[in-house]
Amino acid sequence: MSAFHREKVLSVRHWTDTLFSFTATRNSGFRFQNGQFAMIGLEVDGRPLLRAYSMASANHEEALEFFSIKVADGPLTSRLQKIEEGDTILVGRKATGTLVTDNLLPGKRLLLLSTGTGLAPFASLIKDPDIYDRFETIVLVHGCRQVSELAYGEQLVASLDNDEFFGPLMRRQFIYYPTVTREPFRNRGRITDLIASEQLFHDIGLPPLNIATDRIMLCGSPGMLEDLRRSFEQQGLSEGNHAEPGHFVIEKAFVER
Ligand SMILES: Cc1cc2nc3c(=O)[nH]c(=O)nc-3n(C[C@H](O)[C@H](O)[C@H](O)COP(=O)(O)OP(=O)(O)OC[C@H]3O[C@@H](n4cnc5c(N)ncnc54)[C@H](O)[C@@H]3O)c2cc1C
Repeated sequence: MSAFHREKVLSVRHWTDTLFSFTATRNSGFRFQNGQFAMIGLEVDGRPLLRAYSMASANHEEALEFFSIKVADGPLTSRLQKIEEGDTILVGRKATGTLVTDNLLPGKRLLLLSTGTGLAPFASLIKDPDIYDRFETIVLVHGCRQVSELAYGEQLVASLDNDEFFGPLMRRQFIYYPTVTREPFRNRGRITDLIASEQLFHDIGLPPLNIATDRIMLCGSPGMLEDLRRSFEQQGLSEGNHAEPGHFVIEKAFVER
């Protein structure tokens, strides 16, 4: 049995010259937990070329969705960015990852902190009805350099706001906080600074970080993750994993090569 499923691309949308998203068919045997990632890619010269990708679709959805970077000289994404409807992609059979709610201790407020394509696992998680049962409030923070890079997340949140099922949950329990670092915007600054200065909590009108009630998921650049990990550990928060749940969990949005 092959290690991956062959899936058909159903749609492709280019958001900026460095970001695109696409949907693909989903084999009925492909199971995953919201927040997990799988190896996906293309067949190149008869051999699979695969990279880790978070599912941006939720596990109750029929199609798969991915939110991707375009790296000009990247082995995979220099090719993947050219896919079109009807093309074939490879999707590894096994999903894995630490950004799952079972790796967190029970809490009241869930902070989802992302930069760039680190939004992808949270796109899946905010479509999971279970997180609205587990947490009273869910705060999605998405940091980018430019306003245009927020578009995928903005559109997703707007579509859930208008959804018959998710709309009421979102209005009651969900806060979206996009922020940019290199252009004027209503929210400005790096996530690390916005948390350290408590500006984020001031802006959303909620109390600052509280170890008793806050649980955190992080997905972004290696630098941002390291800074936040250090800061959270200094405040007494523990990192969770499959063996032992904690106050926060971390996944890299990419690895520096
Ligand atoms: C657990 C995990 C989940 C991931 N999920 C996603 C995802 O959902 N969407 C996605 O686009 N990528 C994701 N990635 C990154 C992905 O695996 C590839 O690195 C990416 O698709 C580029 O592949 P490449 O072969 O073109 O270039 P690579 O050789 O893999 O990367 C070249 C360089 O590009 C930069 N880079 C790579 N990926 C990114 C990125 N996402 N954002 C900013 N810079 C990047 C890095 O500096 C890297 O050194 C994930 C990585 C990990 C470890």
